[in-house]
Amino acid sequence: MTEESNKIPYLPERLKGLERIALNLWWRWNRRARRMLKAVDPMLWSATRHNPVALLRRVTPGRIAHLSTDPDFLALYDSVMGEFEAMLAREDTWFATEHPDVSRDRPVAYFCAEFGLHNSIPIYSGGLGVLAGDHCKAASDQGVPLIGVGLLYSKGYFDQKLNLEGWQEDSDEVFDPENMPLVRLPAPDGQLSLTTVMTGDRPVHLGAWSLDAGRVRIYLLDTNLEENHEEDRELTYKLYGGGREHRLKQEWILGVGGVRVLRALGITPGAWHANEGHASFMMVERLREQLAEGVSMADATTAVRANTVFTTHTPVPAGHDMFEPEIVDAVCSDYWAEGPLDRAAFVALGRHPELDHGRFHMTAAGIRLAARVNGVSRRHRRVTQELWMSLWPGREPGRIPIGGVTNGVHLASWMSHRVMELLDEVLGPVWEDDADDPAIWDRVAEVDDAALWAAHVRMKGTLLDFCREQARSRWIELWKEAAHLAGAGTLLSPEPLTIGFARRFATYKRANLLFRDEGRLRRLLTDIKRPVQIIFAGKAHPADDEAKRTMQRVWQLTRDTSFEGRIAFLEDYELHVAHRLVQGVDVWLNLPRVPLEASGTSGMKAALNGVPQLSTLDGWWAEGFSGENGWAIPVADAESEDEADALDHENLFKILEREVVPLYYRLDERGLPGGWVRIMKEAIKVAGSKFTTARMVREYADQYYAPALSGKVEGDDPPEG
Ligand SMILES: *Cc1c(COP(=O)(O)O)cnc(C)c1O
Repeated sequence: MTEESNKIPYLPERLKGLERIALNLWWRWNRRARRMLKAVDPMLWSATRHNPVALLRRVTPGRIAHLSTDPDFLALYDSVMGEFEAMLAREDTWFATEHPDVSRDRPVAYFCAEFGLHNSIPIYSGGLGVLAGDHCKAASDQGVPLIGVGLLYSKGYFDQKLNLEGWQEDSDEVFDPENMPLVRLPAPDGQLSLTTVMTGDRPVHLGAWSLDAGRVRIYLLDTNLEENHEEDRELTYKLYGGGREHRLKQEWILGVGGVRVLRALGITPGAWHANEGHASFMMVERLREQLAEGVSMADATTAVRANTVFTTHTPVPAGHDMFEPEIVDAVCSDYWAEGPLDRAAFVALGRHPELDHGRFHMTAAGIRLAARVNGVSRRHRRVTQELWMSLWPGREPGRIPIGGVTNGVHLASWMSHRVMELLDEVLGPVWEDDADDPAIWDRVAEVDDAALWAAHVRMKGTLLDFCREQARSRWIELWKEAAHLAGAGTLLSPEPLTIGFARRFATYKRANLLFRDEGRLRRLLTDIKRPVQIIFAGKAHPADDEAKRTMQRVWQLTRDTSFEGRIAFLEDYELHVAHRLVQGVDVWLNLPRVPLEASGTSGMKAALNGVPQLSTLDGWWAEGFSGENGWAIPVADAESEDEADALDHENLFKILEREVVPLYYRLDERGLPGGWVRIMKEAIKVAGSKFTTARMVREYADQYYAPALSGKVEGDDPPEG
């Protein structure tokens, strides 16, 4: 499908292709395309935070005229356009080669409440969304026939600003579809409303937009249509905004509405993947469709299960979405009234097998309606098997039919071009196509130490420049006190060992472990010969006051002069900031309370850039720590949370004081931190060979998608509990 778009109307014929590049996020993970876009106008490229649509809308006609006659630019342009067309047309993909018998006509429909693809499209809040974005990009690379289904939050998540007391203030994000690669999809009759879903006592009209990531198209649903009641127009305004009923309605629109919008667009998926319980109503609606055709409940359930994959991401019981019966009645009654799925059958799908709390449990529904269920790391798989044992009464946890596919990150999106160029020298220019071959990663050892270190120093410089630039813009906008400037990292210097700690401020991620003993932290940071500095970033959920208090504490430390300006807080953690951080710090710190981190992915992003991780042995690190690619805080043998915190704190500081800091400052005869560089290389090797979404998507395809697409019904017994 190619829709006509006139977002960028005045490009000359010779450069018309720039619009196609800008409207497909593929440029984000193609180095030559990125170089070309930057060459259009380097200052504007940086000012728009690498947003090609905004860039092309703002670049002057004179500049475009110049480029259309510049032979160097035209040569680059022609080669990028050639690559782009070849990518779209390619037939000999991994999937086509590995699964020649599986039809690619009917895609896998991948449902997720958030997609983190680019910072210019703020429809994600954190790890889940970034994972979904990376999943789509990798599916495109591997030729997996996949489409995404999500919601278009036209006011985004939220922009983070800390006020003068260090309290997080949440403002709407700047959201202008005109500056995004989004295309409206009208119905065949030209109407914007494609379908409706009974929500409460009203039909809600749904519109949709498309967003392309290489060969994968993502359909984003939108209720902000004139046909809708004012309240319903707001349903898709904000990600995770509003109360419980609002949240249920959003998940309702995503699941039921998502299926109906695909039907309205004439798309017939061959398999369905609910990424996290938010999307479980997708299965419920398909069950209703079957029942409406006269299929029995038992057969309909089997049919829906047979081609459905469900991925759960949370080991914390309270982290699963559940809805009170009153809210469910208020939102879903008129849907039941339409038939043939009645209230009793509906409620039974979301019943918790043990707790008789009467709430509709989205994960329980997901597990009941998918024959293929998985957690997101080996450790998380075991935790999930135990969590849901009661659905298969009498079974050992190890025999609970829940699999594990460890998360990954999209290599070409997260690895800096500087590191890629070093790999080019050793591996030749096409190594990215063979990046799944473990043998090539052994050759990272051959990268020149001095060159790798020099590349790292450059990236660190870029990060510190970025901190200053961000501080400058905040200073102009709203800051009144100079202390803000220190807190934003303007006093950081390039030499000291720099620790990055960036993630959602959720309690279990324990940012406060670092300042449990302020004296010890102060001694570590302000050592005259071997100083250390820390950059924090992360948002707190708007309703999580405890997390906001932790953040406020960090903010107070950033302006405490006794730390000598060695602690910084970088506001508004999103994809652009994340890129700068994972490429520019020296060590990546992660302190989840075991076993509450299902996977974690930011440490993988850092590792791909030669930034080793120091972390508790949780999530992916429990399988990713090789002994030589970073440092692990051993699992605390403790009776209580407080005792575990105390032990972890002690181990954290011991590792920092005795291993990390000395190694970083130990220069060899070449004047290089040779021991450190060895760890950097090991970090790249392990992450590149095992923790990319290429590996992850292939596992999903082999274990789940290909069998589901070929209609193979699992022999696995459905839950009984
Ligand atoms: C990768 C990423 C996350 C998730 O990181 P975790 O290690 O899983 O906490 C969150 N936010 C952004 C912006 C990211 O890029």
